[in-house]
Amino acid sequence: MTALIDDGPRLLRGGPVGSGIREQVAADVAAFKAEHGYTPALAVVVVGKDAPSAVYLHKILDGCRLVGIEDRLVELRADCSETDIGDALRTLQADPHVAGIITQMPLPKGIPLRAVIDVLDPMRDIDGIHPLNAGLLSLGYDGFLPATAHASIEILVKNGISLAGKHAVVVGRSNVIGKPAALLLLRENATVTVCHSKTASLADVVRTGDIVVVAIGRANFITGDMLKAGAVVVDVGINVVDGKLVGDVDFASASRVASAITPVPGGVGPLTNAILLTHLVRAARDQAAGRIPLGAHSLAVSTPEAN
Ligand code: NAP
Repeated sequence: MTALIDDGPRLLRGGPVGSGIREQVAADVAAFKAEHGYTPALAVVVVGKDAPSAVYLHKILDGCRLVGIEDRLVELRADCSETDIGDALRTLQADPHVAGIITQMPLPKGIPLRAVIDVLDPMRDIDGIHPLNAGLLSLGYDGFLPATAHASIEILVKNGISLAGKHAVVVGRSNVIGKPAALLLLRENATVTVCHSKTASLADVVRTGDIVVVAIGRANFITGDMLKAGAVVVDVGINVVDGKLVGDVDFASASRVASAITPVPGGVGPLTNAILLTHLVRAARDQAAGRIPLGAHSLAVSTPEAN
């Protein structure tokens, strides 16, 4: 039987942390412009106006304007070809002011991810989808991280929640959230278990987690009785139920057990866009400094301690 927390969990809100990050980004962008004489730009490639992620991508562009980053929107027709996507990326990458590029995901049916990653410059891959950046993360180096995974761990770090030595259970193993979140937790010296749709006795495994990060895309799936008393819960899920946004964690029952929890909305989401802007600033600085794509820079600057 899981013990209950009487006075409610600490709410880990992304908004305040995100605002602080945005202020810093605005200052960094102003300093960059003063030093280099141009404003770095973030480009978004949207394939088909009605794509589900188009709204999210437009929000990113709005966020750019608020901190002084230039925004570029490239809209391709829903029935465009792989070549059209490649050409759009090449055109953007020929512009030295375009420091970062995000392409709508998922791509329309019939267009493979390869259409993007064969062309995308890893130095401009500020949402960490390129295999080079995924590889750098898995080897413990400092590539560009997928922004949502980065935000899901940063919300813990920024709230002073210690991770070293804790058992972290990640539910979900997607390339964009679950896997990179697990690797980031490992980097923070947590002991990590990754669960997925074939995990046996999921509730029993989740109940061993001091930290539980959930990214599965199933509304209210993780309930309070699946949590250890005092667990810290990061709910990455975004689902719409009866017109309302809800997470992958059942907030009401989880709140009776968890010591801290991210609300949905208002948790990881607001932090994700702010984090993405920090990646853009880093990309702009790297490019202005003429750092080379693979590695001399990544490997020399952030070589992890030998172990
Ligand atoms: P995804 O690619 O569909 O991956 C879902 C993962 O969950 C898969 O690994 C899947 O396992 C696992 N899973 C599904 N049902 C499960 C079950 N019953 N038990 C255990 N594991 C299960 O999804 P995603 O792109 O990672 O997104 C996850 C959630 O995050 C979604 O709700 C999405 O809307 C949200 N999201 C949030 C943000 C943000 O800023 N907060 C940004 C992007 C996405 P298998 O691998 O075995 O299939």
